Amino acid sequence: MAQIVGVGVSPGRAVGPLARMPDRVAEPAADARLPADADPATESQRIADAAAAVKADLDARALAATGEAKEVLEATALMAADPTLVTAAQQKVSAGATAERAVWDAAGEVAESLAALGGYLAERARDVADVRDRIVASLRGLPAPGVPVRSEPFVLAAHDLAPADTATLDPSTCVALVTAEGGPTSHTAILARALGLPAVVAASGILDVAEGTVVLVDGAAGTVRTDPAPDEIEKARAVAARERTFDGHGRTADGHPVALLANVGDTKGVDAALAANAEGVGLFRTEFCFLGNDRAPSIEEQVGAYRAVLAAFPGKKVVVRTLDAGADKPLPFLNLREEANPALGVRGLRTVGHAEQVLTDQLTAIATAAEAEDADVWVMAPMVATAEEARDFVARCSDAGLETAGVMVEVPSAALTAEGILEVAAFASIGTNDLGQYTMAADRLLGELAALNDPWQPAVLRLVELTGEAGARRDRPVGVCGEAAADPALACVLVGLGVSSLSMTPRAIPDVAAVLGATTYDECVRLAQVAVSASSAAEGRMAVRDALPVLDELGL
Ligand code: PEP
Ligand code: MG
Repeated sequence: MAQIVGVGVSPGRAVGPLARMPDRVAEPAADARLPADADPATESQRIADAAAAVKADLDARALAATGEAKEVLEATALMAADPTLVTAAQQKVSAGATAERAVWDAAGEVAESLAALGGYLAERARDVADVRDRIVASLRGLPAPGVPVRSEPFVLAAHDLAPADTATLDPSTCVALVTAEGGPTSHTAILARALGLPAVVAASGILDVAEGTVVLVDGAAGTVRTDPAPDEIEKARAVAARERTFDGHGRTADGHPVALLANVGDTKGVDAALAANAEGVGLFRTEFCFLGNDRAPSIEEQVGAYRAVLAAFPGKKVVVRTLDAGADKPLPFLNLREEANPALGVRGLRTVGHAEQVLTDQLTAIATAAEAEDADVWVMAPMVATAEEARDFVARCSDAGLETAGVMVEVPSAALTAEGILEVAAFASIGTNDLGQYTMAADRLLGELAALNDPWQPAVLRLVELTGEAGARRDRPVGVCGEAAADPALACVLVGLGVSSLSMTPRAIPDVAAVLGATTYDECVRLAQVAVSASSAAEGRMAVRDALPVLDELGL
């Protein structure tokens, strides 16, 4: 039995044979030409056959899939059936290109012309690249790219997962995710938590484990063990089969209330939040409604999108975050300039400097939606760095008729000056994903820096503590809405640091509720001190986990 250690990003244990995600399809040599003795007609036929095989494979997979995966597969199958790509590629073969190169170049041209048409058709350019990769893999006799399809449960191993891969991932057969790259806030980590799958990232060495090897993944400890003992397999399976539910009232064992809220970005998230019995929404990422839009959404369009979320939570709190554009979240309609360091640039609230009307319209739309629905609407701005910015934002909200206006604490300066900020803002919500990257100066998207970019870092927790203390002095609520809130052990620490609400991916709510419900408030305070004064993230995590036997009982 061997063990690979990575970074655990989604708790839980699962066992299954390893299935590797095929490598990305490499581009054929730019100058690949047909040998003089090759028959162009045979090469052309190979292209047509490969395209037909790809379409048949996608059709079969779409038939077996449901929901978004089905839609993605059907759209891709349609693209594979479109003769434009095959005909253009066959013309290039007649002019002397190899089948692979011809398909690559023809796909480039088709994608370009779709992109030029804009709107819905431009979005289809991504399907062309997918079909291209599938045809080229088929021509090379390699397995199709993308998440492997299995009828039996399996553990997926990959370099890293892209958003497009994740749409076709079926959580009924894929029982855990392990990636060689990726950090705690990578797409893999966010997806795993959303689906409730145990996951370990930055597990270098996982790609050396042979396909089919049975592995035990522990998403809390961050370990992957090959060929585990039968009793360990039995225990992991028993824990995975146990269902947990949340009664809708987050609290510690001795009844100290901690609101357990959901992070949502769209109506699918709303369904998951309702299913999890969330006490409301602690982070509505409005930019997710408009990602990739090349024109600003109208006020009416926004009112519709916001009302769809607010309507699901009558009488409950919904914290609407204004657009957090820039860096890894492109909103083309803002026309942000290219920057050398976008995470440190014009993003979040800072975009108001050159797109003031966008914020004004958004606040108008939020106020209109709030007026029309019964949710208790709070509004907050992302990436606030100073008390002046907070004051300006709160004033704009007030002008729009939005009285409960707060800020996100994501920049260390905001945590350090939280008292001044909370003099003007009604509440603070700590975004540990960004607070971690800015405190540790470690890009949240870089797997190589995953150990630095860890919310258990004592420096990050110290800033959470400062914010909690400022909230207590100013009598303002302080919540956490970063991924840290979804870690049941860390959730106890955050409560002990003065946080009164935790907002997370809905799937994590029952686990966090169960662990918090088994821990007294005084114990949370004690654990918080252990974590803050630890000499490293790993030491703090281990010491706190050791003090919480309930984690082991629940298999977390
Ligand atoms: C955060 O930074 O912790 C956060 C919740 O915001 P986002 O992940 O959307 O940047
Ligand atoms: Mg953030």
